[in-house]
This record gives sequence, C-alpha cells and structure tokens, in this order.
Amino acid sequence: MLFADAAGYYERLEAVPSRLKMIDILAEMFRGLEPEEVAPAIYMTQGILLPPFEGREFGVAEKLVEEALALSTGHDKRAVEELYIRKGDMGLAAEELKRSTRLKGIVRNSYGIREIYSMMMKIAEAGGPGSKDQKIKMLANMISAASPLEAKFIARYPLGALRLGVGDSTILEALALAYTGSREAKPELERAYNTCSDLGLVGARLKKEGMRAITDFRITLFKPVRPALAERLATAEEIMERMGGEAAVEQKYDGFRIQIHKKGGEIRLYSRRLEDTTAMFPDIVDAVRRIRAESAIFEGEALAYNEETSEYLPFQETIQRKRKHGIAEKREELPLHLFAFDLLYLNGMDYLSEPYEKRRDALEALVMGSEVIEPTRRILTGSPKELERFFETSVSDGLEGIMVKDLKAPYVAGARKFSWIKLKRSYRGALTDTLDLVIVGFYSGRGSRAEFGFGGLLCAVYNRKRDMFETVSRIGTGFTEAQMTELHRKLERIKRGLKPARVDSVVEPRFWVAPKYVVTVNADEITRSPMHTCGRSTDKEGIGYALRFPRLYGDEAIRPDKGPEEATTTEEVIEMFRMQRKVGVKE
Ligand code: ATP
Repeated sequence: MLFADAAGYYERLEAVPSRLKMIDILAEMFRGLEPEEVAPAIYMTQGILLPPFEGREFGVAEKLVEEALALSTGHDKRAVEELYIRKGDMGLAAEELKRSTRLKGIVRNSYGIREIYSMMMKIAEAGGPGSKDQKIKMLANMISAASPLEAKFIARYPLGALRLGVGDSTILEALALAYTGSREAKPELERAYNTCSDLGLVGARLKKEGMRAITDFRITLFKPVRPALAERLATAEEIMERMGGEAAVEQKYDGFRIQIHKKGGEIRLYSRRLEDTTAMFPDIVDAVRRIRAESAIFEGEALAYNEETSEYLPFQETIQRKRKHGIAEKREELPLHLFAFDLLYLNGMDYLSEPYEKRRDALEALVMGSEVIEPTRRILTGSPKELERFFETSVSDGLEGIMVKDLKAPYVAGARKFSWIKLKRSYRGALTDTLDLVIVGFYSGRGSRAEFGFGGLLCAVYNRKRDMFETVSRIGTGFTEAQMTELHRKLERIKRGLKPARVDSVVEPRFWVAPKYVVTVNADEITRSPMHTCGRSTDKEGIGYALRFPRLYGDEAIRPDKGPEEATTTEEVIEMFRMQRKVGVKE
C-alpha cells in the first residue's frame, strides 16, 4: 500500500465522529495491506515504532521536526516555529508548509508504507555525534517527496502520535472485521494480544496464518504479558463471599511491579507499562541469575527493604531506584527486595491457564534459597475474621493492605478480574482512594489564573466495554502553579476543534483535547449526576456518576507512567460508589 493511501485513510479516521465508523475505515485499510505491511501499518497507527518493551524510540524532539520542515519547504525556521505554535500541531503545520512550499520538491507520491516505516526506523537508530543532522536530513528527504497530506502524518509520527484517537481495542476490532469478516474473533485476538503485548505481531500472524495461529497463540520469552489486575471490595465479608471459600490472602507491597523473563543467562525485566527496565535493577538481575531454572517468566513487587531491621521502606524511598543514572550508588544505598507473586512460565511450560495454587507451588520452589527474592507472605483462610486480622497486621507493618486471590483461577492477562481482590487501608472510611482520570478537555483561566492560560480540566474514566472515555468530573482545584503551566503547555498541543470520537460527554469544555494525559485525583464522595456520562444508562436521559469536591492529588498528580486506557474504569467507579454506601462516607 502506498503511504499516500494510508494517509488518506488516516485523514478519514480523523474526521469521523463515531467509533463504529472508525472501525470500518480501519478494517478497509487493513484489507488493502500486503502481509509484510500489516505489522508496520499497525505500529504506525498506534504512533509507535515497535512495542514499548523493544525500547526503540524515535529520539526526535519538536525542534528537530521544525528544522526538517524548514529544510524541506524552504521556509525559515522562525516562520515554521510560529506556525507550529499557532496551529498547536506539527502535522497541520507541515501540511500548510507543503502547500506553500518555496522549493520544487519531487512530489513522487509513491513511497510505500514499508519504505516510510524503514526510513523512520533509520531515523530512530541514528545515534552518536552528528546524528541530529542526519535525522533532520532523512526526515526532510521524506517530506520533500511527500504530498501535503502525507507530510501531515510524516511530521506527526516521529513525535509519537498520529492523533487519530484510535485505541488498541479499536484496532483489534478492525483486525477481526478485516481478516475474519466479523467482530466475533475480537476476544480471541485480545487474548493473543494480552499474551504478547505486540499488536503488530498479532495482526501479522492473523493475516498470514489465519485464526488457527491466534487460537494457538502462547506465551513467549521476552514478550511481556499484559499484567493481571485486581478488583476492589470494601469489607472482609464481601471478599470472602465473593471468593466462595478458602482463598490466599497475600500482603500487598507498595513498590513497583516487575515482570521477569529468564532464558539461561539472558535476563530481562519489564515494568507495569511493559518497558524494558533491566538496566535499572542490576541487583534483581543478579538474584535472578542465581535461580535454578533454564527458563522462567514470573512477577513480583520490588521495594527497598532494610534487611537489618526487617523494615519495608515507603514508596517515596523505593521510587528513587527508578533512575537512568547513578544506578550503582543507589543500589548500595537502597537495595531492593523482590516479593514474587506469580509464575507464568517455567522450563518450556505455559502456566497461564493453571490454577493459582499450582502456579504458587512452582513459584515457591523456583525462588527457594534466594536472599533477594522471596514469595509474598500470605495465609490461606476462608474466614473473614482471619482475613481482617491479617489485613490489620499488614497495615501496622507499614504495608498498603492485602491482595486476596482465588485459589482456582488462572492468570488473566491484561484484565481486571475478581480472581484478585485488593483491600487497601485507604478504602476504610471516606473516599480516600484516588482515581486516575483522563483529561478530555480544559477551560481557560480567569482572574489570577489568566496568566497560566488555564482554568481547569474536564476529566473522564475509561469504559472498557465500550472502549470510550466517559466524563466524570470537572476539576478546578488542587493545582500548583507549576502544574498549571505544565498542563497548559501539554494540552495546547493536543487541542481538538471537535469532541474526539471516543469521548462521550454532555458537558462542553472550552477546548477539547485528545485523550492522552492521566492525572491522579481525589474527592470526597462519588455521587449520581445527570451532568456526566460515566456509567450512565444507555437511554439519553440516564444519570451517570460524578465526583464531589474533586481535586488534583499531590505534586506527582500528572502521571506520565499511565496511558489513557490504564485510567480508572467506569466499572471501578460504580464499585467504589457501592462500597462507599456500605462503609458510609464518614468515619
Ligand atoms: P492497578 O495496578 O490495579 O491498575 P494501581 O496502579 O493503582 O492499580 P494498586 O491498585 O495499588 O495499583 O494495586 C495493584 C498493584 O499492586 C499491582 O499491579 C502490583 O504492582 C502490586 N502488588 C503488591 N503486592 C501484590 C501482590 N501480593 N499480588 C499482586 N500484586 C501486588
């Protein structure tokens, strides 16, 4: 497929207001691809070069794209920069600059998708002295030969987003439609995706080998599994009732999640967001090297731990280990301890569909004897009283709470299920648990805030079933000046003229933005409200859920570590509403 054709599809995608139409357009595009083009086209649509764990990033800043635009269109740098600031989007700037180009480029309109993709890969791979100029030249060459429409997407791609508003779930549905003729295959495709976190790979296998390859899809070393997530309930009774008998009650540690892959001496560590963090934690790598297993994939929570006093260090200490420089010194100062909580693969055997009990037994045997890695501490019980006691002890030991696990359940990759239920100390009493919300719009500042150009946010939760963002709150307080400035700068760049296709809202903000940034918020209470679409019954008059007295939560409230689909979900809000009624909002 020519890149010009792909750009045509992207242009249509950008303009459609409904998700179903988006799926049709994407499916039409996928149908037109050659087998070898499927993976590159999917990554491109996602706005990435490769999945996050491959660690291949563009390394291209806005300034660099501006220079490439100046070089390829003959406009001076200042004019390019001004246009970009005015448009708030490099793609629109590129399109306009190409229309008014001062140079006679050879508009060939004939680069294929794969050619563009491999040139982008070369740009990403260029490193070392002089690489900046090389990157500019390569990008400028591509833009010179492109039409204005192609240039729009070529300029956006290296900045990490095509701004199409297409989520993974939409791509999966379009793949099902394109290659199997119906949406029914989506759950199977999703399972494969959850097992390898690589949409390009799933799409390419489907196109080349058909549904068989997808149903047979298995866990693979060095392709991280999308993590299993926990539901929450408010009381020990409810949890035990839900478990329906004896369950494992594990301590819940507040550090960071690591997924470990080991094959002989080769070891890789992946974060909750599936980034390769091997280089950051040499102490964990050394400990894994000493484990007796030819190959294994397992998960745990790493935290700084004082062996002398048996004290767990708070998250603020542990987090200092997440760094790119000074790793060796911090390793000495804050050694990590890994509490292993699940086993997914061992010596060639896939454990994903095995029950928890069996995975746990194998996990305990695997890490036995290690000084740095130990299985999470736990009890087995069917009694709410005992559960409660274990919870209290864990909390007084300085931990966050507990994780209760269904003994019979498989590992459900990429999903939030009741086979894991968390109980945190913060659920007790008022709504002290925070929510992670996606920004979908913002308001301009008045009065003393005018100088920040920013007056508040319109925020949404993620409805997983509908793959839509449903509004739940307007937020006008809790911002520091630095946060206001940062938010304004970030949001200006992703402003949209119309409501983005995957946003469901009855409230109109001053400016819409693409669902991209996540913020942590807390509130006094969850209430029912006709103003918001979160959890609203499908009839248009329905009542949704909203937050009472919402505010941005703390200095770290802007969350670069969370993507929009990782925000709090509609189901969670409904559950929190239910819990709050049981517990009572005051303590
Ligand atoms: P989530 O990860 O569920 O989206 P979150 O980022 O807000 O939510 P929490 O709700 O605090 O995190 O809890 C889930 C996380 O707890 C897991 O992702 C994992 O990192 C951590 N964790 C700590 N102890 C355990 C344990 N024993 N079993 C499983 N996970 C644990």
